[in-house]
Amino acid sequence: MARQNTLDALRADPEISVLIIGGGVNGIGTFRDLALNGVDALLVERGDFGSGASAASSHMLHGGIRYLENGEFRLVNEALRERDRMLLNAPHYAKPLRTTIPIFRWFSGLLNAPLKFLNLLDRPGERGALVIKIGLTFYDFLVRKERAMPQHEFRLREAALREYPGLNPAIICAASYYDAWMPSPERICLEMTLDAEAANSRCQALNYVSAIAGDGEGVVLRDELCGAEYRVKPKVVINAAGPWIDFVNEDVGAGGQRFISGTKGSHLILDQPELLAAARDSEIFFENDDGRIVLILPFFNRVMIGTTDIRIDNPDEARITDAEIDYLLAMVSKVFPRVRVDQSQIVFSFSGVRPLPYSEGGATGQISRDHSIRTLPASGKRAYPVHSLIGGKWTAFRAFSEQAADQALDDLDQPRTVSTENISIGGGRAYPRTDAERDAWLGDLRRRTKLPLPRLRQLFERYGTRAEDIAAFIAVGNDHALKHHPSYSRREIEFMLQFEKIEHLDDLLLRRTLIAMLGETTRDLISELAHIYAESLGWNDERKVNEVERVIDILRDKHRVAL
Ligand SMILES: Cc1cc2nc3c(=O)[nH]c(=O)nc-3n(C[C@H](O)[C@H](O)[C@H](O)COP(=O)(O)OP(=O)(O)OC[C@H]3O[C@@H](n4cnc5c(N)ncnc54)[C@H](O)[C@@H]3O)c2cc1C
Repeated sequence: MARQNTLDALRADPEISVLIIGGGVNGIGTFRDLALNGVDALLVERGDFGSGASAASSHMLHGGIRYLENGEFRLVNEALRERDRMLLNAPHYAKPLRTTIPIFRWFSGLLNAPLKFLNLLDRPGERGALVIKIGLTFYDFLVRKERAMPQHEFRLREAALREYPGLNPAIICAASYYDAWMPSPERICLEMTLDAEAANSRCQALNYVSAIAGDGEGVVLRDELCGAEYRVKPKVVINAAGPWIDFVNEDVGAGGQRFISGTKGSHLILDQPELLAAARDSEIFFENDDGRIVLILPFFNRVMIGTTDIRIDNPDEARITDAEIDYLLAMVSKVFPRVRVDQSQIVFSFSGVRPLPYSEGGATGQISRDHSIRTLPASGKRAYPVHSLIGGKWTAFRAFSEQAADQALDDLDQPRTVSTENISIGGGRAYPRTDAERDAWLGDLRRRTKLPLPRLRQLFERYGTRAEDIAAFIAVGNDHALKHHPSYSRREIEFMLQFEKIEHLDDLLLRRTLIAMLGETTRDLISELAHIYAESLGWNDERKVNEVERVIDILRDKHRVAL
């Protein structure tokens, strides 16, 4: 249903079973689960889908080997299983990733876990080879039954330096193991939203709609595009506002308790071919001098480096600081001392806030990364229960969403009929797994659309099997490459404008594509896109000018990109 039609329908009939506030991965995962289980749900997201913490992660789908040290076995076990499910259910956006840990000591860090258990440790000591060996053996053990990727391996110094000649010669050995990464988390969020709506016509998701107040019977929503307000009457509310959970509870009349202690994490994207070559397609995961675990991640022709972990009260204020930039650039020399990195190589940066459970003081790295649901039951003052989704990893969103959906199903006295465990996401459906299957798939699409094979291959790489719809759309109109970004075409952009819930220029540049993140945005490209938007969405000149200013401001303010 078109956005305005959904809003009109809510005005006419405000009763809904479940209202989900927040369109990050956890809200969207819950929305999808409820949709598949036949519940009518409304999801509202005050910005664009997947634009909060879910856009700011290190892009890892991982068990989180570091959390073993904190004794978070349940979380690691669940996350490993969910990682492997993502490789199966979203193979277009979840990719195996070889990860290498350069190691500088043999025995240190052995007491980290016991000391942490006894509450005698605030900052972990350096992790030596033995501790890492124990962790990786346990990691392998947890997935021994459904092993999707190779087991870990250790190499002594000489062998490690042969493979990674740029590594710091002070290492004593290196360990490699497999995790996974996701280049486009925001597209996974979008595709799950579209899947949910397609599965259940009584489920709608609206971006740029905020929950702003509650009066005990209903929740007031504001359309952020025009300021219009609507009042809905839910039976159950799920607060999936991530780091904003306490603010939302306060606004909708469910405040009073503090659930969240957010910590900010920032990342840089560098254009540094020497660093890219040194990492040799592996994530380099290592302990910085201050005991923090940091990473260097090859990201197409760029390199991502991250991250920091700093307490912050207001997530709206999360921006990378000069001190964080210095910290992130300096850490590279610990593992690749001969590679020069500097500010001129930064093409993009981003910051976000981890919605961690409330805690006072202590080292941020020691706060639990596990998830939990805090329920405020319906009361005399409030007709509906509010379930707040606290914490969690991107990786484990499906399991967390299932637990949230179970709470809502219980409230509604409805049974679970479908599990999302084996349900593919968007362009991961009917995904050709082998080279031969992929070639056959592409060949068939070529026969039907007459588009050149290299172009179809590119669409497949970008969108998985969703490329089928996009190619069909491209084939029936006049298409041409964009003048200022020729790897995209006009019809490809028009497809996203028509079918991917786009409202602003930044939705496309930051979340439907990787253009901004790879540092490929230019003023000329923005003008060209604004022109296409105007023709497709009926923008007048004033809207065009405002939108161009808006995206330039966002890039400067939130991503330190000066155009
Ligand atoms: C720096 C960093 C690195 C991370 N790295 C990893 C990693 O590598 N792997 C991993 O598995 N996990 C990682 N995580 C954790 C993971 O990203 C988060 O736990 C997860 O994305 C949280 O999703 P969410 O849906 O709960 O919150 P969010 O994605 O923040 O979604 C909440 C949404 O609520 C919306 N909202 C707020 N107020 C309102 C309102 N009034 N009305 C409507 N909507 C509202 C916000 O706009 C936001 O989009 C990382 C997190 C950070 C910050």
